[in-house]
Amino acid sequence: MLTTMRASFMPIACKCPGALDVGTEALAIREDTGDVTAGGIATHEVCQQIARTGDRPEDLGPWIEKYACDADRLGVTTWQALKFWRQHGGRYPYPQTERPVSAPFGPFKLTGHLDLLSVDSGDSAEILDWKGGYRTEVDVEPQMRSYAYCVAYEFGLERIGATVVWLGDQPEPTYQRWEWSMLDLAKWVRETVTNINRRENRYTIGEHCRYCPRFFTCPAQCALVHGTLRDLGQLSEMPEAEIQPDRVAAIYPAVQNVERLCKAYHDLIRRIVALNGPVPVDDRMALALIPGVKHAIDARKGWRIMSEALEGDQEEIAKCLTVKKADFLAAVSDLAPKGLKGKRKKEVLEDLEEAGAVTTKTITSLRMVRRKDDPQKGNQHGEGTENANGNGAGPASSE
Ligand code: SF4
Repeated sequence: MLTTMRASFMPIACKCPGALDVGTEALAIREDTGDVTAGGIATHEVCQQIARTGDRPEDLGPWIEKYACDADRLGVTTWQALKFWRQHGGRYPYPQTERPVSAPFGPFKLTGHLDLLSVDSGDSAEILDWKGGYRTEVDVEPQMRSYAYCVAYEFGLERIGATVVWLGDQPEPTYQRWEWSMLDLAKWVRETVTNINRRENRYTIGEHCRYCPRFFTCPAQCALVHGTLRDLGQLSEMPEAEIQPDRVAAIYPAVQNVERLCKAYHDLIRRIVALNGPVPVDDRMALALIPGVKHAIDARKGWRIMSEALEGDQEEIAKCLTVKKADFLAAVSDLAPKGLKGKRKKEVLEDLEEAGAVTTKTITSLRMVRRKDDPQKGNQHGEGTENANGNGAGPASSE
């Protein structure tokens, strides 16, 4: 019997075949959307309506009530979906939403749930995946290839177009798009299955580990954590004069990894306490979730009251408010006529700068950057990858 594996597991499996030894259950239950928060589910449901009707429901109240999610956030993500749909909906003339698909994949049965599938009357199809958040460094291409392969296999098609829309990106949704022929996909499946079949003790540690269900049990992670803790212990005992900067810098990636592990631990223990109530730490202490309250005033709803309380003094009201530059410029852009949006934003920003209303703070952040003397630097290609047909469309377009 084939072991079931979700397409959403593929980005991890391609980077680290060792992750597949997590156990059959985890491979099968991993959610496809990767966005299982209440807000994420509500966004997906409203997006389904947009794809079916061509418009966003006027009242989002039923979803806000059903999922107790953030109304503003749902409004923004679904507005972004509608903007995308108005420009590109024509690509999906026969939309099927929440369509399950599957195909054999070496020792696995690959399965997935498509947010949107449109099979045309010829030999091609389009698939689309809504992502409720902003675009991250996570490589979603293997997940989309998996969906595309399942669709090509199930319907016997020759060409699949695949799109991921990042609804959290501002001011416009960002999307990534690929096109593959069945030949491309079959070649990819052969290579990936060969790689997976040679997976014994083959681990690749990286950013993807934080989404891996083997995070806490993985032998490579355990070895790395032990080594890092030993290095940190030695460092703390070293007289400052003997500390060599490059030796300290060399353990930075490993320390980042330990931090990720600690973060995953915090998420886990929070979930455990939320589910079970206080959990004993020792004879005297227990871990508990202590409620706290933070208040914020919605300026739109409270404007009249605030204005009355401060006797209509605009200066006093302004002192209490902070305006996010990106949000304000997005609102300016929305109001400006098509074709003049950029110009209008530039003018308003210049006016604000002239009035001394824009404050600038210089911050420094610690990051890993390419060394100037890196011998491979000249061989690096720019950001982005070519699509499967090698026509260099690049992974992301912003409209
Ligand atoms: S935690 Fe990282 S290295 Fe370990 S199995 Fe998962 S992806 Fe691979």
